[in-house]
Amino acid sequence: MDRRKFLACCAATGLSSTFCAPAFGNAPDDALADQMKKTRGFLIADAHAHPYQLHGSRSYDSSAPTIAMMKSQGMALCSFSAVGDMTFYRGRSGSPFGDTQNQLRQVRRLEEKGELRLVLSSADVQSLSISPAVTGGLMAIEGGDALEGKLSKLDAFHQEGVRLMTLVHDRDNEIGYNQRSGTDGSLTPFGIQVIERMSTLGMVVDVAHAKSATLKGLAEVCATPLVDSHTSPFHPGAEGSEPRRLRTWPEMELVARSGGVVCTWPMAYSGKNSERTTLGHWAEEIVRMKARLGIEHCGLGTDGGGGLPRLITGWESIASLPELIAALRQVALSEDDIAAFVGGNFLRVLGKCMA
Ligand SMILES: [Zn+2]
Repeated sequence: MDRRKFLACCAATGLSSTFCAPAFGNAPDDALADQMKKTRGFLIADAHAHPYQLHGSRSYDSSAPTIAMMKSQGMALCSFSAVGDMTFYRGRSGSPFGDTQNQLRQVRRLEEKGELRLVLSSADVQSLSISPAVTGGLMAIEGGDALEGKLSKLDAFHQEGVRLMTLVHDRDNEIGYNQRSGTDGSLTPFGIQVIERMSTLGMVVDVAHAKSATLKGLAEVCATPLVDSHTSPFHPGAEGSEPRRLRTWPEMELVARSGGVVCTWPMAYSGKNSERTTLGHWAEEIVRMKARLGIEHCGLGTDGGGGLPRLITGWESIASLPELIAALRQVALSEDDIAAFVGGNFLRVLGKCMA
């Protein structure tokens, strides 16, 4: 990254110069230097992923990122999301709290081996860099079921290093309703307490999977910027034939108005009169989001390892990031726009929530 590009990146993301600085202490090897030429040294941050499928699903998912993949991309940060409602998936009884702790323990072990550096404070966010040596790891939980209805368990997770929580996942829980549910409703009284406590602790509130009225409740209560860590917009008028996990424009505007970021993913689908199957479609969608929400509210959340039923052609895993960036250039997004999308915006929100 030359000085002009470096300053432009800082201006685009509203970050200090230390934040954008590459890791000068770690001379990149040739492979990384090549990689960084393709991605032009962007600070890449994936808002939602399940590296190594720590949730223990039996179906193998080749999109699951590994530390080696993160390093080969020079990624600044990747989410390590434990699934909070996995015991229900497995169809057997068990403690969602204990099961989630077991998943997070594996992240801790990676840190102890020096494979990643946990991001725990806004100072840690500021010090992230493009580095072949170490990737930042964001400990996260997908599904507030893991709290088992108790604020003390939120405190315990925070103490273990969790800094982002997706409040609902694939079942309605003590906090609110999920997008696959037959019912909808606002945040529960416990949900309100959770949001207030998360804000005090400096944790990011992730609204992914939250059904419309629950999302609205979250937007009303939460004083910090919201994140929707993995989704994409419905095509206008095609809502009925597209996956229920997508978002309407008014829903995404709630996230944008909070100062937050809507992160899009590589899920492919074909609706009745719509199609999202190529990297070009994904890139054109970001252009539409820029026009409607502002580029500062758009981000990347790959859901790698999350078992997406079908992936966009050209996207296999984070190893396809150079191809995605090439597609973004083809739709004439500026280098600053791309820097903001691939990581700058999410890191801004992360730093703000933890401050
Ligand atoms: Zn998910």
